Amino acid sequence: MMPSDWTKQPEDWGQMPETYESESRKLLRRLRDTLAEAGEGQERLDRITHLIADSMGSEVCSIYLFRDADTLELCATEGLNPESVHKTRMRIGEGLVGRVALTTSPVNTGDAPSEKGFRYMPETGEEIYSSFLGVPIQRLGERLGVLVVQSKQTRAFSDDEVYALEVVAMVLAEMTELGAFIGEGAALAALHQRPAMFRGGVGQEGVTSGHVWLHEPRVVITNPVADDPQVELGRLQGAVDELRISVDGMLTAANNGDKDQMQVMEAYRMFANSKGWMRRMEANIDRGLSAEAAVEKEQSAARARMTQIPDAYLRERLHDLDDLSNRLLRILTGQGTETGAEMPSDPVLIARNIGPGELLAYGRRLKGIVLEEGSVASHAAIVARALAIPLVVHAARITTEALNGDPVLVDGEQGIVHLRPEDSVAAAFRDKIAMQAKAQERYASIRDKPAETPCGTRIALHMNAGLMADLPSLEGSGAEGVGLFRTELQFLIRNSVPRRGELAALYGRVLEAAKGKRVAFRTLDIGSDKVLPYMKPQDEPNPALGWRAIRVGLDKPGVMRMQLQALIRAANGGPLTVMFPFVAQFDEFRQARDHLLREVEREGKLGHKTPSDLQIGAMLETPSLAFAPKQFFDMADFISIGGNDLKQFFFAADRENERVRRRYDTLNVSFLTFLEQIVGRCRQSDADLSFCGEDAGRPIEAACFAAIGIRSLSMRPASIGPVKSLLRRTNLVDLKAVIDQAATEGHQSVRPAVMEFMRQT
Ligand code: PEP
Ligand code: MG
Repeated sequence: MMPSDWTKQPEDWGQMPETYESESRKLLRRLRDTLAEAGEGQERLDRITHLIADSMGSEVCSIYLFRDADTLELCATEGLNPESVHKTRMRIGEGLVGRVALTTSPVNTGDAPSEKGFRYMPETGEEIYSSFLGVPIQRLGERLGVLVVQSKQTRAFSDDEVYALEVVAMVLAEMTELGAFIGEGAALAALHQRPAMFRGGVGQEGVTSGHVWLHEPRVVITNPVADDPQVELGRLQGAVDELRISVDGMLTAANNGDKDQMQVMEAYRMFANSKGWMRRMEANIDRGLSAEAAVEKEQSAARARMTQIPDAYLRERLHDLDDLSNRLLRILTGQGTETGAEMPSDPVLIARNIGPGELLAYGRRLKGIVLEEGSVASHAAIVARALAIPLVVHAARITTEALNGDPVLVDGEQGIVHLRPEDSVAAAFRDKIAMQAKAQERYASIRDKPAETPCGTRIALHMNAGLMADLPSLEGSGAEGVGLFRTELQFLIRNSVPRRGELAALYGRVLEAAKGKRVAFRTLDIGSDKVLPYMKPQDEPNPALGWRAIRVGLDKPGVMRMQLQALIRAANGGPLTVMFPFVAQFDEFRQARDHLLREVEREGKLGHKTPSDLQIGAMLETPSLAFAPKQFFDMADFISIGGNDLKQFFFAADRENERVRRRYDTLNVSFLTFLEQIVGRCRQSDADLSFCGEDAGRPIEAACFAAIGIRSLSMRPASIGPVKSLLRRTNLVDLKAVIDQAATEGHQSVRPAVMEFMRQT
């Protein structure tokens, strides 16, 4: 019997004879009964191949499962030579079976030997079978194996047969997930028990070990086969109704006048109301799946499409569909995000993606973070960096593979994650962590000592910060102050512009926590990679060269003035240090400085205390500023080199682009020569100079900066120990001679010579 609203789309049902639907359902039911019988994994697989071959009228049915990421193994067969079971193996992409695994699409041919890529496995005796139908066994984009039927008769399988086999493969995938086929050997080892390695991108350096904590736990489906399609259709309709109501609610809540956000939400609603989506899920139920399995089948198909779509916008829309499917599955299974599971004591957060606010809510409890998507420039990455939590981004498929509580090792230096690691990998990792811990002890012992070199030069070491959570490090790291306080982080983690009072209170707390140490507040550096959630995205062809930082501040001074007022009030009559980001020419600095001086005057008139000492500096992040008139250097109290940006503009190499960002060495002779010129100009004008980009925290780079005359460095708190330790051992006069000689000899980078010098001293 059909549900009432199906009659509205009769065209969908004309293609499938009622008799075949019942065959498909019958097969699934027999399959479920077979799976319910007791027995070892191997026995179950054998029974299944027998059952499928029998039901589909084919002489052969075989199940191939992955024994590792690249190799498939014949694990059960009806019809092929039983001796070849667990012996016949092929690599992904090899032969027709390998092709199904690689493309995750069916191969259906009446004449297998003439198919491109056909490879005949003599030990199986398959040469006599002409027709071949193989479908992937996969769960939400995770490849588990291949299910094959073969016949002697030369005929292509019908669409209905392909569909039926796909549905069976899906049920097999669900049962694999539930551990129904666990047995001897790698291919039958329980899924989610095998070690897995992921290569991603470095989001935040650091090495850590811990146990998986899934930000969004997986939904487990225990009943893939429908008992009564009518009941399942009713369940699906009820759940979809609930979903639509909740999406409408989200839409109303998001109706804050932001047109772009509304458009995205509208697209979300469109998916939730999509008739095509609903029809496909209903069709799945009619062919024998339970409501949740029907949803998941569509979700799997969407995920498979997602990986093949190059257009970022369309991919994003498929993500919407994926999110909706997840919501629907949670409604159907009653499995919320609150599963009652207890967070391990050493949690490594695993998520597809996460917002900065959510990440902050976890805070420093996390030992590591691994994101399936994310990017080096994402807000989550910015927060992870501020919290100094090792982060790996772009770890493809990790949310599908990881289970709560799995042991996991995160190498934030290499961008590598080991899930359920082998003992040898875990041991090597433990050694690495122990070595780092030993080094940390060494650093702790020199914490209160100055970064003074054997030649008697003192280098001031400061830390970079941006959140209240950073401030405790000021004491522990031995930093002399905060050389860069990235104020935009407070703006990034909120949903609306913070008020002046809130900001003043926050900056006040920062200054209080700094206990008299200097804090260089950098005014809002937004635009480019840092887009505020409530800021209308600028459709700029090249945001890094676009309307950002001080350019926004000067063109629309309202927020900048409010921030300056908050800073003056926070200083409460004490000293205040302010620096302006991304200054490209003298006039920008002069205007920004004038704004600040005017605000000081106004605040004074309003009866607020004005700073006892006001230091106003500029960040040198564009090569042009290095060539500004002398008056600029005379006017600036200090200059801070924002090496991350400066280097990307110097070499014209995008700092966020993995393909080019490491291409040019910071110790390149051209760049060091350029930095040395800046040192000279600051000396001439008596402007203090510091370096606050990431390179300041790399010991070798830091030593070279010191050697060319930079006397103040600001870095991540964790880098202060290693940098200080090396500086205390490095004779800067000798190092400078090495640098100069390498430059004179025409080397591209001074690094090899510097490393050799370091080895010898
Ligand atoms: C820099 O560019 O080096 C810098 C410190 O600023 P940010 O990384 O925040 O752009
Ligand atoms: Mg910068």
